[in-house]
Amino acid sequence: MRDKAYLMIPGPTPVPPSVAAAMTAPVIGHRSEDFQGLHSAIITKLQKLFQTQNEIYVLTSSGTGGMESAVANTVGPGDKVLTLVGGKFGERWSELCRAYGAEVIEENYEWGKCVDPRVIKGLLDAHPDIKAVFATQNETSTAVVNDIEAIGKTVAETPALLIVDGVSGVGGIEIKVDRWHVDILTTGSQKSLMLPPGLAIQSVSEKAWKVIENNNSPRYYFDLRKARKQYAKWNTAYTPAVSLFVGLQAALDMMLEEGLDNVYARHRLLRDATRAAVRALGLKLMVEDGCASPVVTSIWAPEGIGADDIRKVLRKEYGITFAGGQAKLKNKIMRIAHMGYADKMDVIIAISGLEMSLARLGCPVAQGAGVKAAQQVFLGVRQ
Ligand SMILES: *Cc1c(COP(=O)(O)O)cnc(C)c1O
Repeated sequence: MRDKAYLMIPGPTPVPPSVAAAMTAPVIGHRSEDFQGLHSAIITKLQKLFQTQNEIYVLTSSGTGGMESAVANTVGPGDKVLTLVGGKFGERWSELCRAYGAEVIEENYEWGKCVDPRVIKGLLDAHPDIKAVFATQNETSTAVVNDIEAIGKTVAETPALLIVDGVSGVGGIEIKVDRWHVDILTTGSQKSLMLPPGLAIQSVSEKAWKVIENNNSPRYYFDLRKARKQYAKWNTAYTPAVSLFVGLQAALDMMLEEGLDNVYARHRLLRDATRAAVRALGLKLMVEDGCASPVVTSIWAPEGIGADDIRKVLRKEYGITFAGGQAKLKNKIMRIAHMGYADKMDVIIAISGLEMSLARLGCPVAQGAGVKAAQQVFLGVRQ
């Protein structure tokens, strides 16, 4: 059974059959009433997901393209920005801002920890000319979720914009764009939203629009001013990935039918079961309970064993793919995604495969102990 595969990486993630089926509909023209109707319906659903009245732009690009759009439209040469960096995707904000000529103040917080919002207040007080603060909701490289509500409260008291990378979290972790004062929230299609790669989605506040209109940095494909003119007619400036738009509508319908609160509760349950299993196996979690991501879990490899060796056995023998560590975490951690189209039995498969792979590598773990712990979480049994 070569092609029975269990994709458990934090993006791309598995696509539900109903979403895949929706995308096989005949391609429609993008300058058509059909497309306008689809576009408008999608935005209404996305506004529910984002909890916002703001305009939402669906861009045809990967998640990083959406991040670039956020930077290109708000930041120009010499502008001062604050980036919150606790992993690979926080670093990406810094790199992007530097590429657009910004003066970057970096708040480096420990990889595996979440950022302390009080530090942000201090930095904003010390540098009142900071134009934008760049944060990461779910830092996928470490499996940490940051407190966007607390960050938003602080930034909203200043003229600075709050720009949030929600690429992996949105759809699995609640975010309240309006109440938490997020000026630009940008996400991608291939993580918690259960779609193939190819779309970046972002909301833009009125506060952000004022900055965008006055920003003189060069931009073309990602010029939101051009996008806005077309948006007024439910069009897009350039050819959108129409089939992915159809898929997005199907995925949003699925989530709204489940109920967004249920979607978020499901992810928290999968996180709790995964973490209970890891602990029962005597392995070490990278992130403490307080900021553990609901959509991905990072685990240290046991002493003396390379994380990538475990991943190799998992893939070869059981068809299971976990993600490895990035940059300085390479070969040190494994990351198990439980995001998007994921449910209880996915966790059971992941943990059972992990137990067998560790056994194959001569690591003494009690077979079944992790699976049992996960089952007990699902059954609501107190441990
Ligand atoms: C995956 C990811 C990105 C990058 O998205 P691409 O689609 O690979 O460009 C950015 N930020 C976070 C938090 C991510 O998880």
